[in-house]
Amino acid sequence: MSDPASPPRDTLVAIATAQGAGGVGIVRLSGPRAIGIAEAMCEQALPVREAKYARFRDAEGGLIDDGIALVFRAPASFTGEDVAELQAHGSPVLLRQLVDAAIAHGARQAGPGEFSARAFEHGKLDLAQAEALADLIAAGSAQAARAARRSLDGAFSREVEAIAARLMALRVQAEAAIDFVDEPLETLSEARLGATLAGIRDDLARLRARAEAGQRLRDGLHAVIIGPPNAGKSSLLNALARSERAIVTDIAGTTRDLLRETVRVGDVELMLVDTAGLRESGDAIEQEGIRRAEAELARADLALVVLDAREPGALAAFEARLAAVPHRLVIHNKTDLPEVTDMPASADVLRVSVRDGTGLSALEAAIAAVARGDLAAGEGAFSARARQVSALGACADWLTGAADELRAGRPELAAEALRLAQEGLGEITGRTLPDELLGAIFSTFCIGK
Ligand code: GDP
Repeated sequence: MSDPASPPRDTLVAIATAQGAGGVGIVRLSGPRAIGIAEAMCEQALPVREAKYARFRDAEGGLIDDGIALVFRAPASFTGEDVAELQAHGSPVLLRQLVDAAIAHGARQAGPGEFSARAFEHGKLDLAQAEALADLIAAGSAQAARAARRSLDGAFSREVEAIAARLMALRVQAEAAIDFVDEPLETLSEARLGATLAGIRDDLARLRARAEAGQRLRDGLHAVIIGPPNAGKSSLLNALARSERAIVTDIAGTTRDLLRETVRVGDVELMLVDTAGLRESGDAIEQEGIRRAEAELARADLALVVLDAREPGALAAFEARLAAVPHRLVIHNKTDLPEVTDMPASADVLRVSVRDGTGLSALEAAIAAVARGDLAAGEGAFSARARQVSALGACADWLTGAADELRAGRPELAAEALRLAQEGLGEITGRTLPDELLGAIFSTFCIGK
């Protein structure tokens, strides 16, 4: 818009509030005609940044609803364009009629993430912030919401930009070292460059650790259910997924051997994977099942080891696989059976009966405690996505390469590695991402965002 060469933009409209009925629902317009369309629908002039009571009408003048209209003038708005918000009663039918009326006046239904994409184009948000906004809305825990809030405020982007700026300064010095490569001071200046580079690498490693912690917060605690066949693993997964406190939010997909559910226990989200296929076998299909189950274990934060209370010794067979999992809860199941009722309980074992529900709330409390402890370790984290964490990783690799080149007395190759490292950082904030990729990222957002 500020660029006179760019074509005139169309005006977007979408329902901005969540799907379904609610007390209030908001329809948002953004673009050069946003205010004009809102004024036509309200049949009155709308003062900027002032809540104005209005009756909302369709293009033929028929009454749709009444509510509050609020307009923002570019560039002081979320998208950086003229924006109008119509706050009506939260009926999906009414909100749809408001959108249709805006379309009849010349607006266009917004696609997924288009409001955020415009905010990005107008420099209101960088890409990491736009993604943080999507993560904030979808946050599964209070900690994840705080991490997203921090990134949305630009804390993550600022640290990325600060490292990028230091890399830029270092590149200038490295280029200078190339020009004076025959000077006697050469080794001295390379040592200085090496020391500066080492400092940047340390800070990058710290930033990466905080981003990785944030990524774990975003993805939720990864818990895997393992145990011998028939111990009650699937029954436990179902019980956790169906109990009142554990609301199933998503069923990511069922494979032949791994069943995944995302469940909420207390205020934490858990990805539960049932590894029914985890048993030794010579059969090729079972082998594949075992391989996948072991891959799940390798990235698990918590193992729920389900044993038949009558055969507690079965734990030994799983010890080796459990070695790398940070947390475990051992569960003796089927305590309702007469032959186990009088077996002694122990502190590190949870005794449950999935069948009659005994001990399940204690188990949920234990899971939530592990999750909270793990999430607390993520305090100070930035919400980050796999895309951003891998960009930080690639940057770290280029810096390792640059350090090697410097040590080998090849400043020109070091300078090139530094350039690539800096470019990698630019991908995080969206400075150096091609348009198609930006489009693909925004299209994963929901409509109205
Ligand atoms: P998995 O192979 O470990 O997934 O075990 P399943 O969940 O399929 O359960 C194996 C069998 O044990 C089924 O017949 C279940 O009904 C039964 N079972 C599961 N939990 C309990 C329990 O708490 N008590 C009793 N008596 N039977 C159970």
